[in-house]
Amino acid sequence: MLEDRSTKAYQALARDLAETFAKRAAKWDVTRDYCWQNVDDLVAGKIMGMTIPKRFGGAGASYYDACIVIEEIARACTLTSRIVVEANMGAIGAIMAYGTDKQRAFAAELVLAGDKPAIAITEPDAGSAAGEMKTTARRDGDRYILNGRKHWITGGGISKLHLIFARVEDEKGSPLGIGAFIAHRDPEKGIEPKGLSIGERRRTMGLCGMPETELIFEDLVIEEDFVLMPPSGFAHGFKDLMTAYNGQRVGAGTVALGVAAGALEHATRYMKERHQFGRPIAEFQGLQWMLADMDTGVHASRLMLQEAARSGAGSRSGFPDKTMAARAKAFATETAIKVVNDALQIFGARGYGDQEPLERMYRDVRMFTIGGGTAQVLKTQIAGARLGIKTPQTRDGYAKLAANG
Ligand SMILES: Cc1cc2nc3c(=O)[nH]c(=O)nc-3n(C[C@H](O)[C@H](O)[C@H](O)COP(=O)(O)OP(=O)(O)OC[C@H]3O[C@@H](n4cnc5c(N)ncnc54)[C@H](O)[C@@H]3O)c2cc1C
Repeated sequence: MLEDRSTKAYQALARDLAETFAKRAAKWDVTRDYCWQNVDDLVAGKIMGMTIPKRFGGAGASYYDACIVIEEIARACTLTSRIVVEANMGAIGAIMAYGTDKQRAFAAELVLAGDKPAIAITEPDAGSAAGEMKTTARRDGDRYILNGRKHWITGGGISKLHLIFARVEDEKGSPLGIGAFIAHRDPEKGIEPKGLSIGERRRTMGLCGMPETELIFEDLVIEEDFVLMPPSGFAHGFKDLMTAYNGQRVGAGTVALGVAAGALEHATRYMKERHQFGRPIAEFQGLQWMLADMDTGVHASRLMLQEAARSGAGSRSGFPDKTMAARAKAFATETAIKVVNDALQIFGARGYGDQEPLERMYRDVRMFTIGGGTAQVLKTQIAGARLGIKTPQTRDGYAKLAANG
């Protein structure tokens, strides 16, 4: 079992780890390899699975403490901080909230040993409209048979634990709702389920060490024991399952915050070092005001994310509030892209080249207004909450909304 740690102790540990990760970050960007060396350090530091409840071997740390760690690590290495998110929120959060004890123990063992679970929702024709997924899970006695194709699955090919979302059908093919299914793949141990294959890996502009792949299901068999059943069953289960994503959103927003905070530090240092026109560029008011806006954006993002991270404590699901999470992620990610861009500008040509980490940070941070709920979709949710309008999840929902004027 992990020892108890205070928030300060987590922060100090994360700062130590971040120093090491900063030295390696350029390597994964160039080689496009997964950072197994950093994962070993995260396992040794008991950061992988820190939010897993104590009775399953974790530390039972709060999402707030996880966010403190994520921000520190993201200042140094975006790729590694993303692993910390997925080893503590998202799929593992959903399994810890809604799983059976057998499922929880199984998932905890994998994550505590270094696995970054994969969550498979997005499909070629179902991106923001996730509720329109076509992958099916048809009941067959006491098991389900999955068929379909997902894409943009983070960790495809390296993750052992997979949480796959599919449209559930009874034995006759009648729809029951959307459910989530736990699959295990570990080729090194000879665990390669028939019917689960890893498709093409996309080449991405940033976060280069993280595989983003297709997952293909051809009669993949999942035993009933590995169906993750939310409290409302299949009929309304998608809504319950997606509440786990509120945690993932706060985590992803915090990665963006950490990258922005790191870029702000680099820019502050450089403004004092670099001289032009016979004086430090820190003396130019045009740059001072840029720096002030960057500083304010980072500070505001941190407050919103911390508020959202704390909002789940004591709630039924334990997950952050949906609107707080949407607001914090949309704001922090858009702010981070601007902050990192401005930091790069402050470095001039040096920021565009590879002597500094700014160009990598810029490419990395660009993803965060897209993955895990686009800024536009999150803003639609925020406005919906304010206006009392339910955000449609499907084309039928939009059609009904239009018909009702
Ligand atoms: C690096 C990366 C990693 C990812 N990892 C995963 C993963 O592990 N698992 C997974 O399941 N998915 C993953 N995704 C997929 C991600 O969740 C989707 O990209 C995202 O939901 C958006 O879907 P889309 O890309 O198909 O864009 P689309 O939904 O096609 O959107 C296109 C544009 O239309 C806008 N738009 C769409 N609907 C609306 C609306 N109602 N109102 C206003 N604007 C709208 C969007 O904001 C966007 O600008 C990942 C994506 C990336 C880039």
